[in-house]
Order: sequence, then structure tokens, then C-alpha cells
Amino acid sequence: MSQSLRIENLHASVDGHEILKGLSLEVPKGEVHAIMGPNGSGKSTLSKVIAGHEDYVVTEGSIYLDDVNLLELEVDERSRAGFFLAFQYPHEIPGVTNANFLRAARQARLPKGEEVDAVAFYREMYAKMDQLGMDRKFTGRSVNEGFSGGEKKRNEILQMMMLEPKYAVLDETDSGLDIDALKIVAQGVNAMRSPERGFLIITHYQRLLDYIVPDVVHVLHDGRIIHTGGKELAYELEEKGYDWITKEPAAA
Ligand code: ADP
Ligand code: MG
Repeated sequence: MSQSLRIENLHASVDGHEILKGLSLEVPKGEVHAIMGPNGSGKSTLSKVIAGHEDYVVTEGSIYLDDVNLLELEVDERSRAGFFLAFQYPHEIPGVTNANFLRAARQARLPKGEEVDAVAFYREMYAKMDQLGMDRKFTGRSVNEGFSGGEKKRNEILQMMMLEPKYAVLDETDSGLDIDALKIVAQGVNAMRSPERGFLIITHYQRLLDYIVPDVVHVLHDGRIIHTGGKELAYELEEKGYDWITKEPAAA
């Protein structure tokens, strides 16, 4: 059985515009891959297509989570299969408290007839919030409603820590975070690195990758991965920009 998040020749469109144009990528369990790329290259589109966002139409290609064909699953089924996306622009859910949201998500992962143990759940949630430097008042507030940009990003990581996915995609989690918050979030991610889990870290800047050191760095440009390298590639991109890669003839 393949233990990876595996994307092959993915083509996807939104409102009739093709954004992903034959994207292939494999993140084996136990590895952290980064995707970097200019604005508008399709990074958020990729993350939303994997999550199953209804606005995006997959016209060709495949996405497998281990041996599960994700394209056959609904959004909630993809989540229960072990996929998690931390959004670039997290959604607000008015009227649903953070604690109830997380509890319901945990409940949905239990076999029929089993109940979340409330005491253990709160103990775990508080411990994880402490780790992320989140005040406990956030448990009783509606999900992301009125949160600052940085508070939303921490809250996404709290969700990830509570759901313990097999594969997580973090879409520009660093944007909107000051350096202290960035370090805390990176510590949270690093603590979850494990042979049983794969990460895809989408970022525009190399800075985050100082704290979450990737095994592999991919460059996304115009809907395709056009270059792949080791962690040093992030520094090269920071220094030289993207032109030297995007303007070279596409590698076979
Ligand atoms: P990135 O996250 O790399 O900055 P996105 O995936 O958000 O890029 O966007 C990729 C491209 O898709 C952009 O050129 C954007 O304008 C385009 N795009 C996104 N949504 C739509 C839409 N609803 N209609 C047309 N084009 C869109
Ligand atoms: Mg984006």
C-alpha cells in the first residue's frame, strides 16, 4: 500500500478558467514538502482542490491519499480520511463556538455509539492551546469571528493539532504572523512531524522554512510544478527570485 499524498497530472478549472495544468506531486508519509511560487501561480487553488472545494472542477488527473481516491469523496469524507487544510483565508463560522466545533469534528471521527469524553477533550484542547499561546477565552468565541489575522492562523493550527490528520496542507500560514507567533506555530507543526504524517507547506517566503525545515521544496508556476530541490532551494529563491526558473525552458 502506498503511503503518500499523491497527485498526478492534475488539471482543475474555476469559472471556466484552467488554473492547474497538469500538476504532479508526491508527499510520502514522514516528509515535509514545501511549495513556493509567485502570486497567482495556483497554490491556493491546489490546496482547495485537494480539500474538495465545490467551486473547482477537476477535468483530468488523480489525487490519492494512501490508497484512497480523494476525488470520489465529499469534503467531510476527505477530512475523515485524514486530510486537513489550514486555509490562507480562514472561514468564520458565526454562532458555533470553537470548542463545540472541535468537539463535533472529533465526534464525527468516532465509531457509531461512541461519545467524546468531555473531560479528556477539554484537557487536551487546553494543553494544545497553551502550546500555541492561545488564551482560553477563544474556546467560547465563534470560530474565527472577529479574530485578528494572526489569531485565525493559530486557530487553524489548533484545529490541525486536535484533528491529527495523516496529511496536512498549510496554505500561507505564515502570512499575518509576527515573528514570535511564527515561531510558536512552527513549533506546533514540528511537534506533529512524525513517520505517520506528511506535510505540504505552501509559502511565499523562505522565512517560515527557517523554522519548519522541509525535506523537499517544489516551485509552482502557471499551474504546474516546474522545479524541485532540497531545502537550499528556498534560499536560492529568496535571493534570486523566480525568474531564473520560470523563464528557463520547461524541464521534461
Ligand atoms: P496563489 O495562491 O498561488 O497566489 P491562486 O490559486 O489563489 O494563486 O490563484 C491562481 C490563479 O487563479 C490566479 O491567477 C487567480 O486570479 C485565478 N483565479 C482564482 N479564482 C478565480 C476565479 N473564480 N475566476 C477566475 N480566475 C480565478
Ligand atoms: Mg494563495
